[in-house]
Amino acid sequence: MARRKLAAGNWKMNGTRAALAEAEALAAACPAPGCDVLLCPPATLIAAMAERLRGGPVRVGGQDCHPAPSGAHTGDIAAEMLADAGAVAVIVGHSERRADHGETDALVRAKAEAAWRAGLTAIICVGETEAQRDAGKALEVVGAQLDGSVPDGPTPERLVIAYEPVWAIGSGRTPTLEDIAQVHEFMRARLAARFGDALADGVRLLYGGSVKPGNAAQIFGVPNVDGGLVGGASLKAADFAPIVEAAS
Ligand code: PGA
Repeated sequence: MARRKLAAGNWKMNGTRAALAEAEALAAACPAPGCDVLLCPPATLIAAMAERLRGGPVRVGGQDCHPAPSGAHTGDIAAEMLADAGAVAVIVGHSERRADHGETDALVRAKAEAAWRAGLTAIICVGETEAQRDAGKALEVVGAQLDGSVPDGPTPERLVIAYEPVWAIGSGRTPTLEDIAQVHEFMRARLAARFGDALADGVRLLYGGSVKPGNAAQIFGVPNVDGGLVGGASLKAADFAPIVEAAS
């Protein structure tokens, strides 16, 4: 089955309103991309970015959500609030949240369920640490994270998996293309075993971790890689536009 690629940008804790100009520049640089394009800015910018990009090729997403639809959770944001602000997707289980906030697979799964409840696409992140890879446990770790973090009842439209080796994030280092291919093939097989071939064939599997204009085309050419989740290189339109082009 032909899966449309997705180029997703994760701005992390970067950007004030001045950075909205970069989002507009990106939209102008790729008026009719051959892939889906998503920017996930800090929560403070979601509504304004969605407003400015409305009707264009670039959609907007969140970086996290709380499992509950509302309530006494100071500082948290519900998936319904992201949707209300104009988001169409939300990243859940990023390794920085797993590490900085102690997020477990069970919590990530609850957040993905919240995303679906609100009508958002859940971009669920998985990936091994360097020590785990060196110990030969990369597939075991990714498999357990997939099992624990992906809720029952997914649809191909609402589920995206991002394979992000922790040691490749922000480091300028990437796995070999063979290693990426191995993990992505493994993930698709793992999804197929649980949900069936038809579902697994439709789910987009992104690679994330030091994707740059110079390596994007090669990485996106790997079998079972359906695009990328891009951090640092998504902040500037001049960097992200060629990555969008590589996914198109
Ligand atoms: P990076 O981050 O592209 O800056 O390595 C990727 C991510 O954490 O999603």
